[in-house]
Amino acid sequence: MKTLLKEKIKSKLQGYQVNLNNPDSTKPRELNGNKKVAVIGAGIAGISAASNLAERGFDVVLYEKENYLGGKVGAWTFESKGETLNMEHGFHAFFRQYHNLLAYMDRIGARKNLIPIDDYVILFGKGQKQGFNNLDPTPGLNVLDLRKQGVFGVGTLLSPFSMPFLNLLKYDADKTFKKFDNESFERFARRTFMPKKMQLVFNSFARAFFSEPDKMSMAELIKGFHFYFLSNEDGLLYDVLNDDFYSSFLSYCEAHLKKYNTDIRLNTPVTEVIRTGNGFRVNGNEADYVVLCTDVKHIKQVMENSPSLMQYSRFKNSMEGLKTSDRYAVLRIWTDRFENSKLPFFVFTDRLKVLDSITLYHRMEKTSEAWSQKHNGGIFELHSYALPADLTADDQIKETLLLELFHYLPELKGLNIVHEHFQHRNDFPAFHKGLYAGRPGIKTEIQGLYLAGDWVKQDNCTMLMEAAYTSGAQAANFIFEENNLQENQLVSVPQKGLFA
Ligand SMILES: Cc1cc2nc3c(=O)[nH]c(=O)nc-3n(C[C@H](O)[C@H](O)[C@H](O)COP(=O)(O)OP(=O)(O)OC[C@H]3O[C@@H](n4cnc5c(N)ncnc54)[C@H](O)[C@@H]3O)c2cc1C
Repeated sequence: MKTLLKEKIKSKLQGYQVNLNNPDSTKPRELNGNKKVAVIGAGIAGISAASNLAERGFDVVLYEKENYLGGKVGAWTFESKGETLNMEHGFHAFFRQYHNLLAYMDRIGARKNLIPIDDYVILFGKGQKQGFNNLDPTPGLNVLDLRKQGVFGVGTLLSPFSMPFLNLLKYDADKTFKKFDNESFERFARRTFMPKKMQLVFNSFARAFFSEPDKMSMAELIKGFHFYFLSNEDGLLYDVLNDDFYSSFLSYCEAHLKKYNTDIRLNTPVTEVIRTGNGFRVNGNEADYVVLCTDVKHIKQVMENSPSLMQYSRFKNSMEGLKTSDRYAVLRIWTDRFENSKLPFFVFTDRLKVLDSITLYHRMEKTSEAWSQKHNGGIFELHSYALPADLTADDQIKETLLLELFHYLPELKGLNIVHEHFQHRNDFPAFHKGLYAGRPGIKTEIQGLYLAGDWVKQDNCTMLMEAAYTSGAQAANFIFEENNLQENQLVSVPQKGLFA
């Protein structure tokens, strides 16, 4: 009986994976001739656009303002007390729903460096934890299993206030955003009398989008639940890179880009983009196409210096409507202590004030493991995804993060910090209520100018790194279409929920 139900669900959800396009196999794959593309920003979106275009023979220049590739998955080294240490922008989870990104990682040979995490765990209260690895993977049935784990009770199922929860299973981009984009998660939780433990789960989701509950768009959260939990069997478990991001991922991207003759220009911020007839001039170089893949904070600076683009009114309005989320912090510490608890590499917390997650690098990445064995100490990374407005000084932020670490892992009290690396940033795109309608898409009204990044509106259901990769690949597909070339096949989780 259950097997039949599982099959029905799978067939209703189109086998858990759908094609986003139908490439015409009669069209050529290789560009015949010479077309120049400027890709601006070398995060995942830029790497995606540049790789896809260069593979087909486009003449690609990839501009990056930093001295490393990867943007928010970037990696670098720094010196401390005579040692050279690895650092990244922050821990990243590669969810198994990231079909397009994972296919790319396969293509460049980096997928073998992913290792699985044991469980998606949230620490809360006094030493309690909520895990998710024993759930039935089937969408819908996994929700019922949440009840067994105490996330909600029979009372919730029977309450008339719970009716709006059904919308979680009814994701349909147009309807969901129309109905819920102006409502915050906090308001939704209040009016549905959402049980405490369910709020804990939703909160960990909202914080993965760097938003406080009172700002987070409920529509984006419903989309997130659909993407990560309710449209496929991949569930909340994910994989992580087994070493620093440069050696396990970005060095593969770099080698792939170079193999296809991409001109990678690090330390090269683009200051202005000029429209020239049918083409563009970028940092003084001519280009037939531009794919703008910067983050929302820095795209504004480029636009301020690009009056010839800002005379297109729809484009201008959409650029002006872009917002960054709250400030966030990433503190990595190299210590002389280890945790006692048996935890996966990465855990969320229910946050006292600041600390949202803890990563145990000494158990996850090869180089960190080697340091840990040599020095008999742990490497912990502490994230705050949305810093409170009253906490602005770096020292205070660090101190609070550490105090909260000792709350969740009291055995670490009294540790000595051997090295530390701290980042306090504000470059994450806002997924706040009310922003969806004005969000720009990949294709702009300016012929030849495309946008890509995790913040761009797409006609598919992808998020974060997968959204960044897919948008870059879609921008490339639009350029292939213009040149009568075969598109690359892109896929995603089903576009609509079980009850949509
Ligand atoms: C701490 C942290 C943890 C995260 N955890 C996860 C996770 O677990 N799973 C997940 O899926 N996602 C996670 N994310 C989100 C993920 O990192 C992003 O969604 C994704 O990397 C965005 O890629 P992007 O290419 O759109 O943008 P970015 O990575 O921001 O890339 C933009 C690039 O443009 C460059 N640039 C900007 N202006 C210019 C200019 N004028 N000229 C040239 N270059 C310019 C920037 O330097 C940057 O390299 C996390 C993010 C952070 C910050």
